[in-house]
Amino acid sequence: MREILDLTHRRKNLAQSTVPLPEKTRIFTVSNQKGGVGKTTTTVNVAAALAKSGARVLVIDLDPQGNASTALGVDHHAEVPSIYDVLIDDFPLADVVQKSPEFDTLYCAPSTIHLAGAEIELVSQVAREHRLRTALEQFVSEAETPFHYVFIDCPPSLGLLTINAFVAAKEVLIPIQAEYYALEGLSQLLNSIHMIQKHLNPPLRLSTILLTMYDGRTNLAHQVADDVRAHFPVEVLKTVIPRAVRISEAPSFGQTVISHDPSGVGSISYLEAAAEIANRHAESAETQHSTATPLEGATK
Ligand code: ADP
Ligand code: MG
Repeated sequence: MREILDLTHRRKNLAQSTVPLPEKTRIFTVSNQKGGVGKTTTTVNVAAALAKSGARVLVIDLDPQGNASTALGVDHHAEVPSIYDVLIDDFPLADVVQKSPEFDTLYCAPSTIHLAGAEIELVSQVAREHRLRTALEQFVSEAETPFHYVFIDCPPSLGLLTINAFVAAKEVLIPIQAEYYALEGLSQLLNSIHMIQKHLNPPLRLSTILLTMYDGRTNLAHQVADDVRAHFPVEVLKTVIPRAVRISEAPSFGQTVISHDPSGVGSISYLEAAAEIANRHAESAETQHSTATPLEGATK
């Protein structure tokens, strides 16, 4: 009963709040070299939530699995022009972008199975770390109507595809699954971000951390959340994403949870997370966020 009242209250708050639009395109890479932590789920649902509030949003599916393309309901069979053609054959990004049937202002550059070979094919390419950035800069500057957000869904590795995403982006969003090994491997991810900042993309910053698959009934989830917040007081969003069946079943309908179950707890949570992301930037546009320090002793 309390949960229902709480959800009603949250819905009402969302309905009353406005979500500001950024003046310049905000480009996020959604990264974590661990698989199954909620990268794709977060990418498509935050993107859909922002699109629902009126922003123009592009999702770039950089994972050969193509799960983001599936969830956004866009074609991504082998013959479809995809992000592979952009990275390897210099297609303009505009030639592969499709409109998602989910929302009018939501677009996706799909991944196809060919992308599985790109990691190796990129090795011998000229400017191999900058290919996505170059294509995205051209797309953003030539778009007839400006895009407010770009989200890049990364594969679970720190290879050349992920490096391309880090170089193309301005902000990193890390989804962290609220479970025992949550912080394991995070030092490695932070080191990679520092290396990218040093050598390839100095303005890149870790702006956002989102706790996913959160089970508030367990002490463990609370402990993990406290731990992550202690290390990243600024970056961690207040909103946590609960474990919810509707979130995990939405992709099998070719949908995001935002359209699949618009008033459920999964949707509300992602809408709140998206509003926080939009508002934080408005508050902190002039101030630099603290750059996270390496996680001494935090990996357990
Ligand atoms: P990644 O992209 O990091 O590999 P996914 O977003 O694909 O992770 O999520 C891994 C699995 O967990 C998927 O089956 C997804 O549907 C499920 N999942 C993600 N977030 C939630 C959630 N909040 N509640 C329930 N299931 C979730
Ligand atoms: Mg994924």
